[in-house]
Amino acid sequence: MSMDRPDAMSSPDLRIRWSRLLLSRWEIWGQPLRVRLYCFITETAATVAFITLLGTEALTQSDLWLLLALVALGVGQAELGRRVERIRRRVSGVAHINMTSVWTFAGVLLLPPTLTAVLVAVLYWHLAVRSWYRLQRVPAWRTTSNATAVILTCFATHQAMAFTGIHDMRAALTHDWQGFAAIATGIAVYFVVGAVVVIGAREHIVWTPTGLFGNWTDNLLELATLGLGALNALALVTMPGLALLVLPALLLLHRSVLVKQLEVAATTDDKTGVYNTAGWHHTAEREFNRSRERESSFALLMIDLDHFKRINDTYGHLVGDAVLRAVAEAIKAEVRDRDAVGRFGGEEFVVLLPDVGVPEADLVAERIRQAVTRIRVPVDTDAGVVTGLSTSIGVAIYPDAGSGVQELLDAADAALYRAKHAGRNQVVHATPVG
Ligand code: GH3
Ligand code: MG
Ligand code: MG
Repeated sequence: MSMDRPDAMSSPDLRIRWSRLLLSRWEIWGQPLRVRLYCFITETAATVAFITLLGTEALTQSDLWLLLALVALGVGQAELGRRVERIRRRVSGVAHINMTSVWTFAGVLLLPPTLTAVLVAVLYWHLAVRSWYRLQRVPAWRTTSNATAVILTCFATHQAMAFTGIHDMRAALTHDWQGFAAIATGIAVYFVVGAVVVIGAREHIVWTPTGLFGNWTDNLLELATLGLGALNALALVTMPGLALLVLPALLLLHRSVLVKQLEVAATTDDKTGVYNTAGWHHTAEREFNRSRERESSFALLMIDLDHFKRINDTYGHLVGDAVLRAVAEAIKAEVRDRDAVGRFGGEEFVVLLPDVGVPEADLVAERIRQAVTRIRVPVDTDAGVVTGLSTSIGVAIYPDAGSGVQELLDAADAALYRAKHAGRNQVVHATPVG
């Protein structure tokens, strides 16, 4: 098909890819010690567990057929999903959607542990070569560590199910509600262990629930995937042809997650992670209407970095971008979750504070101004640090300074202008209208 040509493999291409794969193995040495230790420990644990289990299992022919069926379904789904993944790659900041647990969890319910490990290894190898490596530069060590985490998750789930006395889907089918309880236990263990075991591999750990375990959408997707995995396993032991019906449902799920991701990407500034202009305006109009209905006030802060051009001129644009990220983080740290922080391009940020009047708005603006002066951004080249940042902030309060979002933005902008002229690094109030 002509649409697939850009991704088709020619033989020199293949050689380059292989040499990169081998070289990139060494990228692991550039990782923090914690990540290297994590990889060493998990990979050793998985290998030891695999070898130990190998001696205890008797494989049957039907196990091998089931393995083959799951590999075929998993590879088929990844191939069918490549078009969705291609769309995703064009939008930066949108994470790969991984639904491999449909097959790996089905593997847990159908196969002996060693064959589940083989299934995981084959599916991840296929994803790495076909979907991740070429365009995203996912290094080999990362694929290996992801696959290892999944293998350990599968081993733990096998163990937990063995503990319930019902090892697999066939046994569950003859145990009524107990069978259901065993599978539900399997889902819970897979979900929890899978979420916990990957934390150690992150380069930066963010110690918040979302930072550690992802958002609701991520977790709901994982649960939906595990549920489909259980249905898939059920189909494979009762009426194998039905397992094919899982594929369209998965493709649809894949697409719908992408739509949600694109929605977020379209309203997010990818340099700093706060709202972009369109996203901020959308949220601001909604909050404004709410405040007006409730007849409550709200505050708008317009924040502009002082002499930012000098940072770019002295350290270059990349450091300038790191400064913008640090400022966005500092602002977010000083406001509540429901306050909308946005970047209107350049080095200008806006914050909307619903249900906030004059004294609190002053307090928040002053806190942000001070937080920015404490920012330290390391510079890679000569191990220097960017410090001494400051901001000028214009504050406008509804309804005193204007009767609509645009009027308030103009008022805050005029106040900001006055702050610049009065010597920068200060908070200035918009003059009340009327
Ligand atoms: P003032 O105190 O008057 O605000 O001075 P300033 O230097 O901060 O203001 P000016 O508007 O003259 O310069 C803003 C600079 O911001 C110019 C532009 O190169 C830089 N800039 C705009 N967007 C970005 C960006 O996304 N990344 C980086 N690194 N720099 C940016
Ligand atoms: Mg500026
Ligand atoms: Mg500016």
